[in-house]
Amino acid sequence: MNEYILELKKSKKLILSIDKKNKFFKFKKPYIIAGPCSIESEEMIINFSKKLKKIGVNAIRAGAYKPATFPVRKKINGWQEGLKKEGLKYLIEVKRITNLPIVSEIMDQYQYDNLAEDSIDIIQVGTRNFQNYTLLDFLGTLKKPVLLKRGTWATIDEILGAAERILAKGNNEVAICLRGVVGMPSYRHVFKSIRWAPDIMMIPALKELTNIPIIYDPSHSTGYRNFVPTISKAAISAGADGLIIEAHPNPEKSISDPDQAINILNLNEIIKFSKKYNKHF
Ligand code: PEP
Ligand code: MN
Repeated sequence: MNEYILELKKSKKLILSIDKKNKFFKFKKPYIIAGPCSIESEEMIINFSKKLKKIGVNAIRAGAYKPATFPVRKKINGWQEGLKKEGLKYLIEVKRITNLPIVSEIMDQYQYDNLAEDSIDIIQVGTRNFQNYTLLDFLGTLKKPVLLKRGTWATIDEILGAAERILAKGNNEVAICLRGVVGMPSYRHVFKSIRWAPDIMMIPALKELTNIPIIYDPSHSTGYRNFVPTISKAAISAGADGLIIEAHPNPEKSISDPDQAINILNLNEIIKFSKKYNKHF
C-alpha cells in the first residue's frame, strides 16, 4: 500500500470519513436511481417518471446535457447532446409531479446557474469531468449532494482524491459512482455495445477505506441490457449502497445508449432483489 493509503488505514478516523450530515446516509438503502439516459420530450419524461415512482425508484435520473463521444453525429427532434436548458425545465415538472429527487449531469458553473440549481437535486459529475478540478471545487462550495462518477481511467487514489476535493471545500454530501473502466473485454467483438469493464471489486476496496456511499452503475459498465440485471445483483451483493440504472419505456428506441437501457419489468425485478439482499451489509 502506498503511504497515503496506509495513513488512511492507520488513522481510525479515516480522512475521508464523512459525518451523518451527508444526505446520502439519510436515504434508504438500497438507493435506486433510475430513468432514461436522456430527456427526450416532456411527455416521455413525465409519464415514465410516474411509472418509476410506482415501482419504488428513489430518485429519477435523466440527462439534459449529454457529452457524446461523437458530438455531431446525432440530431433528432432538437436533441443534440441533450435538450439542455429545455430539458431542465421538464425536470422541474417531473419533480413537482413525482416529488422525487432529480439526478442529472452538469459540466460547468454556467449550466448550474442557468436552471440546473432549481431543477437538479443531486448533481452528477460525468466520467469525462471526474478530474475537472474547477468543477469539483465549485461543487464543493454548494449545499447539494454530488454523485461523482469514476473516470474510466481512475485509480483508487484518484477516486479518493477527487472525492476529497469536493469534501475539502465544505460539501460533505458526496457519493462515489462506479461505472466501468477501460480494459479489453475479450467478448467485445461478440457484444459490440460493450465498451467498459465492470469494476465490482472497487466496491469492497473503497469500503475498506472510506464510508462515502457507493452507487454502482450497471448500465454504462456493461453497455448491454442483458447483463444489467446480473451486474446489478453482483454490485448489491458486493456491498453497493445503491444503483443508478438506465431504463426506458421503449429501450431499443432510446435516443442515447439504446443497447443498455432496460424496461420497467426488468428494473422492477432488480429493485426487488436489491431490497431483499442489501440487508446483509
Ligand atoms: C450517463 O450517466 O448517462 C453518462 C453519460 O455517464 P458517464 O459519464 O458515466 O459516461
Ligand atoms: Mn447514458
